[in-house]
Amino acid sequence: MLFMDFAKTCEKLEGISGRLDMIDLISTVLPTLSPEELPVFVRLVRGRIFPDWSSQKLGIGPNLLYEAIGYMAGIKKEQVIEKINQTGDIGQAVEDLLGEKSMTTFFHEDLDLVRVDRELVAIAAMEGKKSQREKLLAVRRLLGNAHPLEGRYLARIMLEELRIGVGEGSVRDAMAKAFAVDSALVEHAMQALNDSGEVARLAKIGPEALREVQITPFHPVRMMLAQQGSIADMIEEHGAIAAEYKYDGSRFQFHKKGNWARLYSRRLEDVTGALPDVIQQLLGATDHDVILDGEVIAIKDGKPMPFQSVLRRFRRRHDVAEATEAIELVPNVFDILWLDGETMIDLPLTERRKRLESVLTMYIAPQVVSGDAAEIEKTYTDALAAGHEGIMIKVPTSPYSPGQRGKNWIKIKPEVDTLDLAVIGAEWGEGKRAHAYGSFLVACQDEGKLIPLSRVATGFSDEQLAEVYGLLKDTVIAKSGKEVTFEPSLVFEVGYAELQASTNYDAGFALRFPRFIRLRDDKDLTDIETLDSIRGRYKRQANSAQAYKA
Ligand code: AMP
Repeated sequence: MLFMDFAKTCEKLEGISGRLDMIDLISTVLPTLSPEELPVFVRLVRGRIFPDWSSQKLGIGPNLLYEAIGYMAGIKKEQVIEKINQTGDIGQAVEDLLGEKSMTTFFHEDLDLVRVDRELVAIAAMEGKKSQREKLLAVRRLLGNAHPLEGRYLARIMLEELRIGVGEGSVRDAMAKAFAVDSALVEHAMQALNDSGEVARLAKIGPEALREVQITPFHPVRMMLAQQGSIADMIEEHGAIAAEYKYDGSRFQFHKKGNWARLYSRRLEDVTGALPDVIQQLLGATDHDVILDGEVIAIKDGKPMPFQSVLRRFRRRHDVAEATEAIELVPNVFDILWLDGETMIDLPLTERRKRLESVLTMYIAPQVVSGDAAEIEKTYTDALAAGHEGIMIKVPTSPYSPGQRGKNWIKIKPEVDTLDLAVIGAEWGEGKRAHAYGSFLVACQDEGKLIPLSRVATGFSDEQLAEVYGLLKDTVIAKSGKEVTFEPSLVFEVGYAELQASTNYDAGFALRFPRFIRLRDDKDLTDIETLDSIRGRYKRQANSAQAYKA
C-alpha cells in the first residue's frame, strides 16, 4: 500500500462521523492488504506505531518535529509554531507548508506504508548522544518525500496524535466484517494479545486462529477495572460474592518465565528497574511461570502509607537502592492471568483463585466469600480500620476481562468528593508564579470526548506547580494570550465542596471550591470521570440535601 493511499483513507475517515460508515470503509480496505501491510495499517489507522502492549515511545518531541518542518519549508522554527497556532492543528499546518514548498521541489520518491512504519520503528530505536541529530535527519528524510496530504498524517502520527476518530471498537468490528469472523472472538483475541495488528493477521487466517490465542509473557495485558456499586445490590444479584481489601497503592502486573521477570504498571509501563524489591519478593514466592495481577502498597510500622509513597517508587529512575531501604513495599496479589503456558482469563474467578493459591506461597490478598451482607460489611469496616481504602467485591463466576470497567468488580469506599479529571489547558501564573502555569482547565469524558468541567487554581505547592509545568510544557498545542491548550495527557485528582449546575462550562456543571489534591500519573485519560457519573453524583447530592432539609 502506498502511504498516499493510507493518507487518503485517513482523510476519508476524518470526514465520516458515523461509526458504522467508518467500519464499512475500513472493512473494504483490510482484505486488499498483504499479510505484511495488514498489521501496520491496523495499528497506524489508530495512530499507533507499536502494539498496544508496548510502552515504547517514538521519541519525536514537538521541538524536533518543528525544526524538521522548518527545514523542509525553508522557514524558522518560530514561524512553524506560528502557523500551527493559526491552524490549530499540526497536520493542517504541515499540509499547508508542504503545499507551498512543492511548487519549488520537483523530486518525490513515493512513500510506502510498510517502509514508513519501518523507518518510524528505527527512529524509536535511536539512542545515545547523537540520537537527536539522527532522529532529526530521519524525520527530514521522511517529510522530504511526503506530498502535502501525506505530511498531514505523518506529522500527526509522529506526535502520536493522529485523532481521526478510529477507536479500537471500530477496528474490531471492521476486522470481523472484513474476514467474516465473530466480533466477540476478535474482541477476546484483542484482550489476550493486546495488539490489534496481530489480531488482524489472525482474523485473516480464520476463526480457529483467533480461538487459539494465548496470552504472551512480557506482553502486558490491560488491567480489569471496577465500577461503583453497593454490597446489597451485589448480594441480591449474585448470592455469594467475593470481597477483598481495596489497597490504596499502585496496580502491577508481574510476568515471570523461567528466571526472567518483569513488572508493569497500571499503564503497562515496564517498571522493573524501579522495583527490584517487589520482583525479588514475588520471585521468592513461586517457582512457576506466571502472570499475576495485584496492588503494591507501602508499609511503615505495620500500617499502609499514603499512595504517593508508592507512586514515587514507581517513578524512580536513580538511587533505587536507597529508596528501597527507605520505604518497604509489599505486593498484594489478587489474580492470575496465565500459568505455565496456559491462559487463565476465561476461567471463573473461583477457579483462578484456586490456581493462584496452589502456585504462590506468599502475598495473596485474603478473600472472604459470603452471601451474608453483615459478613461483607464487617470486611469493609475491618478494611477501613486497618487503613485501607475500602473493599472490592467480585463475582465468583466471572472471567477476567482485560481493560473492562464492568459490573463484575465493584469498589466500595466512603464517598469522597474528588474527581479524576484530564488537564486540557492552563493559564500562566502571576507574580512569583509567573514562570509556570497557575490555573488549569480540567475535563471529564463523555463517550470518548473530553468535556471541560472546571478550572483549578488552588491546592498546589510551589514544587507541585513546578513538577506539573515540567510535565505539561512540551504538550502545548495552541496558545492565545496567557492561555495555552494541551494535547491531553495528564490526570489530576480534584477535590470540591459541591457540584453546581452551570452553563459556564460545556459539561453543564461547575465545581464549587475546586482544589488540586494530587497528580494521578498512574491513570490514563480513559480512567477519568464520566459525565454520566457526575450527573449521578449531582443527583445523589441533591437527594441528600433534600433529606437534610426534611
Ligand atoms: P479505582 O482506581 O478507584 O477505580 O479502583 C480500582 C483500583 O483499585 C484497581 O485498579 C486497583 O489498582 C486497586 N485495587 C486495590 N485493591 C484491589 C483488589 N483487591 N482487587 C482489585 N483492584 C484493587
